[in-house]
Amino acid sequence: MKNQLSTSPEITVLIPACNEGEVIERALETVTRILETVTSEWEIIVIDDGSRDDTYERVSLYAQTESRVKGVSFSRNFGKEAALLAGLKFSRGRAVIAIDADLQHPPELIPEMISKWRDGAKVVHAVKRNRKTDSMGKRLAALTVNQIISRMGGINIHNSSDFKLLDRQIVDILAFQLPERERFFRGLSSWIGFREEFIDFDVSSRMENECKWSFWSLVELSITALTSFTTLPLRIVTFLGLLTLLLGFAVASDALWSSFNGEAVSGFATIIITLLLIGSFIMISLGIIGEYIAKIYEEIKARPPYLVKSTVGTCDKK
Ligand code: UDP
Ligand code: MG
Repeated sequence: MKNQLSTSPEITVLIPACNEGEVIERALETVTRILETVTSEWEIIVIDDGSRDDTYERVSLYAQTESRVKGVSFSRNFGKEAALLAGLKFSRGRAVIAIDADLQHPPELIPEMISKWRDGAKVVHAVKRNRKTDSMGKRLAALTVNQIISRMGGINIHNSSDFKLLDRQIVDILAFQLPERERFFRGLSSWIGFREEFIDFDVSSRMENECKWSFWSLVELSITALTSFTTLPLRIVTFLGLLTLLLGFAVASDALWSSFNGEAVSGFATIIITLLLIGSFIMISLGIIGEYIAKIYEEIKARPPYLVKSTVGTCDKK
């Protein structure tokens, strides 16, 4: 292990890319230029997440002239979380920086991240100062999900992004010691503890591409995030049950009281409303429980989170 570390580069930059053919070269050039100002011991790994354009061809071509640039290509689109995981597994650097291919994460921050790491930080998070480029809905969703996870999971991911630097120790934990398949990188890198540092940045606007997160993929990510960090929704089910029980007692005593006094309980409407309310409570509760069962099912199947089709550069097969 020691031997391997002594030959490993100081920094690995990890770029998940899906249909980024138009911008990938610019990203590689910019990141390279900035890395060179800090160290010459670096590598860049592009994880091609099942692009349908020429992203991987462009990376392969680039790698022919710059051997420190490497590429890993998935057999299909497995999602950004899988791409990040693969990148961590393939990386050899003593610190790993994850950054988006569309340069919405300003690479100019890289030197500052590295200097914080050299000063002893184990994780350096880049935190979004504004989300002006995101739509209103996305901002609201992010706020809600981040708030819930931060409160319930006891971790702080408010406005955090996937733009992070991780020390080798953290990379090894995230990539090899956490067996879960469905991941939420942002949450996990905070959950592990260790010394964290934060840097603010402004999100710049991006060029549109086809792999953009759809509404449903964001909903999915939020559900993964919630179910992997908190079981609070299950408690809410119990709480709802208790609430209906109390309500039930109140209504039942009222009904009994009236019937003892010879007054028939009036109300078809009351019955229908109660029935519908309880019915929906039950359905929602089943849904919540179902989400956790689905999660268990996904984990128990133990399918690999991604499949590698080919690699370019000197990446070990993992
Ligand atoms: N990405 C990926 N797989 C996907 C979707 C996105 O690898 O299925 C990559 C994408 O190429 C980019 C990064 O993840 O480098 C962030 O994606 P995007 O810019 O679409 O997300 P946003 O900026 O809206 O968070
Ligand atoms: Mg982006």
